[in-house]
Amino acid sequence: MYDAVVVGAGAGGLAAAARMVAAGRKVMVVEARDRVGGRASSEVIDGFTVNIGAIAIELGSIFEETMSLVEMPVDVREPSPATVFYIDGKVINPQKGGWGLLLGGITKSAAKIATKFADARKGELPEEHISTKEWLEGYTKNETVHALFRNLCAAIFAANADELPARAFLIYFATKGAFKRFGFCPRGTLGVWQDMAKGIENKGGEVRLNTAVKKIHVEEGRVTGLTVESAGKEVFIASRLVISNAGPAHTVELVGETHFGAAYVDQMRSTLKPAANIVINFATRERLIDLPGLITFGKTRRICNMGELTYTCPELAPAGWHQYVAYAVPRPAIGDFDEEQEIELALEDLREQFPGFRDAKMLSIRVMRDNWPAQRSCSGYDMPQTTPIANLWNVGDAVKDYGDGGTQACAVSAKSVAALAQAYLAEQGV
Ligand SMILES: Cc1cc2nc3c(=O)[nH]c(=O)nc-3n(C[C@H](O)[C@H](O)[C@H](O)COP(=O)(O)OP(=O)(O)OC[C@H]3O[C@@H](n4cnc5c(N)ncnc54)[C@H](O)[C@@H]3O)c2cc1C
Repeated sequence: MYDAVVVGAGAGGLAAAARMVAAGRKVMVVEARDRVGGRASSEVIDGFTVNIGAIAIELGSIFEETMSLVEMPVDVREPSPATVFYIDGKVINPQKGGWGLLLGGITKSAAKIATKFADARKGELPEEHISTKEWLEGYTKNETVHALFRNLCAAIFAANADELPARAFLIYFATKGAFKRFGFCPRGTLGVWQDMAKGIENKGGEVRLNTAVKKIHVEEGRVTGLTVESAGKEVFIASRLVISNAGPAHTVELVGETHFGAAYVDQMRSTLKPAANIVINFATRERLIDLPGLITFGKTRRICNMGELTYTCPELAPAGWHQYVAYAVPRPAIGDFDEEQEIELALEDLREQFPGFRDAKMLSIRVMRDNWPAQRSCSGYDMPQTTPIANLWNVGDAVKDYGDGGTQACAVSAKSVAALAQAYLAEQGV
């Protein structure tokens, strides 16, 4: 009998397990794949360590707090400057003057827009249904400003400006970490989750790979345990509660719709909006641009941001190579799109921005969408972490706080869920 079984070893699942073991609970994490990290993991291609999804691990908040709970260091290297804008061949460092400086050279409305960020900090926000694009149109028609905001929406939220609620955009940039500080792991992003898993095991928890949950059993409105499959064998594991990192839709499948009630299932179907992106990993012999962190672009077709990981972590690539990741967000990012056409538009952007890209060694191009997306639900369209089943919760990027994003948001969701799970166990007298 476990106190908690966690389905999935993604950012949210591991962070929830870390908090539960740190509180002295008996915990098992079961992961269907052969590695931890989920959509924030890494693979090796031709001697290059290539990230599957996330690269930038945000510092200074709940993720770091979680690592310290399991007494593990955060093995990332911070680039400085962390983020710059690359507009018409010019590099602009926003840390040197914020929104005012960034927009000041482009539009006369810069001060008005900057004021709106200050208003958001005071809680003055637009209506939920207004998109970032519509909101911005109220202040400027300037195409470069619109391109910049589109690429910010794309880089952080994997959505276009006409898809992301302005309220989510403003909450994120005005009140959250907003990737002001982050680092890259020299072992690939997989490294940070391997460390978290090790921390969980050091504290007596179990992390089982290649173990897929086939069914979550519910009796009289409570989870009693799970059937898992490993090496072709099915086994029942009894647990006092389950935390699912598999996403609300798959969690419903694992339990069976009837246990949730029509209202929850309808809410889930109408709320969740998976957001897609395209990840282009490549390497060059000559450095394309002399910058250590992430570059957000101005006017592009689809590419939103890019970074050279070997600037801070040369061990990711064989000697003599510069390794890059570029992200593109399709149109639409929420809904169906033509993959081939969207990839071509992204490659065209890279050729245009960096003539040296034509000689690049391509490592991988991945389209993250549908059941393996960039964000399981676009920011502003999240489900609650609680479910109609008293001892079953969801963690991860479909149940984020409003206006949050990325692995940090997953760690935040894990903190809330772990607190609810602890309260449940205490109520049961355990
Ligand atoms: C291309 C890309 C770039 C990104 N860049 C960044 C970035 O730089 N920084 C950042 O912070 N975020 C970034 N993100 C977002 C971030 O990667 C995700 O938000 C985050 O990794 C999602 O984590 P999660 O906890 O929701 O779970 P997931 O990563 O979805 O993990 C869920 C896990 O559950 C497992 N699972 C599912 N079903 C079962 C089952 N039945 N049995 C057992 N296991 C199961 C899956 O195999 C998976 O490992 C990026 C995402 C993408 C795709």
